[in-house]
Amino acid sequence: MRPSFQLQLVNDPFGDPALYVEFLFQKRALLFDLGDIHALSPRKLLRLSHVFVSHAHMDHFYGFDYLLRVCLGRARTVHLYGPSGFIERVEHKLRGYTWNLVENYEDELVFVVHEWDGGDRMARARFRCLKKFAGEPLSPAPVREGALLEEPGIKVRAAVLDHKTPCLAFALEETEHVNVWKNRLDELGLPTGPWLQELKQAILRGEGDDFPILVRWRDEAKQNVRRFRLGELKEHILRIVPGLKVGYVVDTLYGEENLRRLKALLHGVDCLYIEASFLQEAAEQAAQKYHLTAWQAGDIARQVGAKRVVPFHFSARHRHEPQRLMQEVAMGFGKPLSPREEVGG
Ligand SMILES: [Zn+2]
Ligand SMILES: [Zn+2]
Repeated sequence: MRPSFQLQLVNDPFGDPALYVEFLFQKRALLFDLGDIHALSPRKLLRLSHVFVSHAHMDHFYGFDYLLRVCLGRARTVHLYGPSGFIERVEHKLRGYTWNLVENYEDELVFVVHEWDGGDRMARARFRCLKKFAGEPLSPAPVREGALLEEPGIKVRAAVLDHKTPCLAFALEETEHVNVWKNRLDELGLPTGPWLQELKQAILRGEGDDFPILVRWRDEAKQNVRRFRLGELKEHILRIVPGLKVGYVVDTLYGEENLRRLKALLHGVDCLYIEASFLQEAAEQAAQKYHLTAWQAGDIARQVGAKRVVPFHFSARHRHEPQRLMQEVAMGFGKPLSPREEVGG
């Protein structure tokens, strides 16, 4: 089943980490991390609705200014998410500029900034262009099972990792795909129509098998109504395919507690984007900097049961040996990486 979005690493594996997620059927995109994003065209940046920032180290956050520059003067609302202290970071960035003329703008740019500390709610604040980006506190939003964003079709969950500062790892989960077998519909003598959308929605909402579904239609002069149990329609006319699950893990210490959290977040992930900063011979430096080695990244991918792994965020000290980093990831993963994975995209 074709996923409803397309993934693109913005830079090469030595560049700043950023993963652009473009929806295929909507003019809309998500972004994981906000380092150097100049490789993204303004058209692509203007599609961003939600940006998830793992932590505010410069290589993950300095692109905020460029995003602001491109979006300024446009009627856009961009939701930003980050770890503890993130609202203050965004506020300081916005305060770095003079906003005395912004009341002349007709279209309003708004940032809604969320920060999550791992608990069951997240703090929020709004920054509106026409208010000169002065912070306005909003009521906290509930967070169920780490889900920072939940909407029909997708969910983004997070876990707080230890990078000597909180760093968020993310899982982007697509809701299951519900497809209709047209020939079986014909066999039952049922028409297509809006009721199929209602049926799909009932399934995506998680209704039980006894949930009633009414099918109404007119033929010739007659009005027909038939009543079904959701369970029987599911069995006879639908094909349900699990959605894609993508993991995004950067800067983190290889340790027991981080591993436990990653397993809970990323269990059975289809594709895992993970930092592979250092060669194993530099494991000591990696640990001192609370980063992963390539072997550790592969090992984590294996332990969470990832089907594919895409290593990135390589340290510049290994600029001339990306192949060795890839080999060590494959060793930790326990199987070779396919050529597509080797280009990091
Ligand atoms: Zn970092
Ligand atoms: Zn980093």
